[in-house]
Parts: sequence; structure tokens; C-alpha cells
Amino acid sequence: MSSFLKKRVRIVLVETSHPGNIGAVARSMKTMSLERLYLVNPLIYPSAEATSRASGADDVLAGAQVCRSLNEALEGCSFIVGTSARQRRIEWPLLSARECAQQVSHHASEGDVAIVFGRERSGLKNEELDLCHAMMNIPTSQDYTSLNLASAVQIVAYELFLSCSDIVMRDKDAEEKATHEQMEGFFSHLWEALVATEFLDPQNPGQLKRRLRRIYSRAHLTRNEVNILRGTLTSTLDKTKSL
Ligand code: SAH
Repeated sequence: MSSFLKKRVRIVLVETSHPGNIGAVARSMKTMSLERLYLVNPLIYPSAEATSRASGADDVLAGAQVCRSLNEALEGCSFIVGTSARQRRIEWPLLSARECAQQVSHHASEGDVAIVFGRERSGLKNEELDLCHAMMNIPTSQDYTSLNLASAVQIVAYELFLSCSDIVMRDKDAEEKATHEQMEGFFSHLWEALVATEFLDPQNPGQLKRRLRRIYSRAHLTRNEVNILRGTLTSTLDKTKSL
């Protein structure tokens, strides 16, 4: 795996309950040359069980970053994929593990990428998937769709390992994509403008916010484009204030 991919792809585990799974994830990652592990509020960590399950991948485990929120783990990322054992109601662009690997290796040539894995019992919440550009589901038997956390990471990492052998770096001057923080700043600005123009009722936002997030996430905006959109929001807000 090329060194830029190693540096740019993060595996993010949200509120893992079993420390053994954390160790097994580190091992899955190392076998496929991944090294950046982020742990969002792990229940028990560090732990001897995690170290023992990591086996020879204790360096990946030792380098893991423990974060207090998913937002913190996603800082600086310009492409984020959520993973789920279930297919959800709302239309997230749904990728298979193979398609996910292709998109991740493509986006990693432009910036940092995160693949987010959920809790063993309940997976990821919809509010967490809201922060993602796409959702990945590993096709399984209809009768039992839920893989063990480390098995799910292994499959994604394997696909990534295969898909990146022929990746070439994009032009250095390709336009930089907006980061997670820049997108969240844009969304806050958008909600403010939509409330000010009374398009959005803050007491009753329904599915509108989620649907708008999906539209803008699909566009994979560049930093420049986010600035232009924020300019349109600032001028709308200025007008509503002067009315
Ligand atoms: N009961 C939970 C299962 C969680 S399994 C649920 O229905 O969501 C723990 C994590 O492993 C999931 O959050 C996801 O990140 C990953 N995972 C398990 N099976 C998967 C599958 N078939 N496709 C994609 N990710 C999967």
C-alpha cells in the first residue's frame, strides 16, 4: 500500500465495548498496511485483552488516538464513510466494501479519509451517519447481517489493500476538498439562514436538515465552493436583518 494511503486513511471505532475487539481491529489493520486507529470513547481502554488480541500489531494499538467525540476524530477529514450492518431508511449513497475501497483510495489522493465503525450492539446512530458522505454495507446473508467489528474492518481493509495497488497521486494543484469542520461550519450557517428566512422551523425541523445534508455531502464541495455558498448565506442574512 502506498505511503500516502497509510497516512491518510483513518479507521474510527465509536464507543467499542469489548477491548478484545479493539485489539483484533489493530491486527486486521496491520495485516493490510493501515496504521491510523481512532477510538471514540472506548468503554475499557487501555486493556491487557486489547494488547493480547492485537498480537504483533501492538504498535498500531499504541499509536491509537483516543477521542472524546466523533467530531474530534473526524477533524481534518474531507471524505467520511459510515458503515452499517443494516440498510437505513434515509437515502445515504450506499456503497459495497469494494466500491468503498475505490472511493476511499480516490479521495485519499486529495485529503484525509475516515471509515467509521459503530458499537457492537447498536451500530452507529443516525446523527453520526449524518456526518458521513456515504454509507458502506458489506453484503451478507439476509438471515444474519451483522459481522464482528474486527471482521468488518478486515474486509474493508482488504478491499482497500487490493484497490490501491494502481492508484496514482492526483495533480498537486487539484482543488482541495472541504474538511469536516468546514462542512459543519457551513451547515450551521445554512440552518441559521434558513431559520431567519423562516424556511426552517427550529421547533420542527423534520427530515429537512438531514435531506439537505445529504444533498450537499453528495456534491463533495471544495473549500472554495464552501466559501462561495457561505457568501450567499451571509448576503441573505444581511438582507433579512435589514428588513
Ligand atoms: N446490531 C448492530 C450491529 C453492529 S456490528 C447494527 O445493526 O448496526 C458493529 C459494527 O460492525 C457496525 O456498526 C459496523 O460498523 C460493522 N459491521 C458489522 N456488520 C457489517 C456489515 N454487514 N456491513 C458493514 N459494516 C458492518
